[in-house]
Amino acid sequence: MVERSHSYRTRAVILRRRNYSDADRILTIFTPSFGKRVLIAKGSRKTTSRQAGHLELFNHVSLLVAQARTWDIITESVTVESFLRLRSDLDAISRAAYICELVDAFTAEDDEYEAVWELLLLCLRNLDGGPGREAEADLLLRWFELQLLRLMGFQPELFACLGCGEGLQPVENFLHLNAGGVFCPQCGRTMLGAELVNVSTLKILRHIARNQWEALHGLQLTHTSAMAVESVLQRYLVTILERRLKSTDFIQRLRQAPLERIRVEEPGIRAASRGSSHSPPGSEDSFNEVV
Ligand SMILES: [Zn+2]
Repeated sequence: MVERSHSYRTRAVILRRRNYSDADRILTIFTPSFGKRVLIAKGSRKTTSRQAGHLELFNHVSLLVAQARTWDIITESVTVESFLRLRSDLDAISRAAYICELVDAFTAEDDEYEAVWELLLLCLRNLDGGPGREAEADLLLRWFELQLLRLMGFQPELFACLGCGEGLQPVENFLHLNAGGVFCPQCGRTMLGAELVNVSTLKILRHIARNQWEALHGLQLTHTSAMAVESVLQRYLVTILERRLKSTDFIQRLRQAPLERIRVEEPGIRAASRGSSHSPPGSEDSFNEVV
């Protein structure tokens, strides 16, 4: 049944998992060299399983996998990085789920995704160990979205008009989600499906798109600006994926929940410190000149 001679080792992040039969789990993993894979972890739901602790959702693991006719079989698993906060803090869990769902949605099997792999790990590490400020965690998602779109060849055009090619000016321009970017006022005014995008929203999108996370993470946006940027990117992603991502709804539900955030702490695991509230160096005003 299993051809033991055909085994391979890989690093992986567990994107999804579900129960299968009485004792097994089916895992969707993401790897740097083989893209996405669906594997089976036999016996991993048994309390005696040595693999169970390693095969937690979002874990960065090293796997030995035996090729098989249906799902390849995980024969050995070792945790490389365990993101404890991504198991105990509901906000962090929902954001990690969203990131993993986007990686799942955009990638395929048997392709190499070294850059997406690095991006995924960077974001999981920041969600796990970051200061935990809600706005900063949201900014990380926006940055992740734009970086993933770029790496997968769907980067929205934010700098030159999609119609005439002229550099966009700091005026109200027109966003066209289906066309994949922005048109100048002359080209966009009469275009069906185009919507106005204000100067501030476009500048923030451009700023996030062209910077590394290290240069962005102190940035503070007004709530209105953050919502506007989120709306553009969410709708753009939905346009591309042609479906609404389940975890996006999850984040929305959390945001609307009036009660204090629920914290699910496993025995012996304390949520990571939310850190100090340092003053971020950047502000929305400081890059309004950067267009
Ligand atoms: Zn134009």
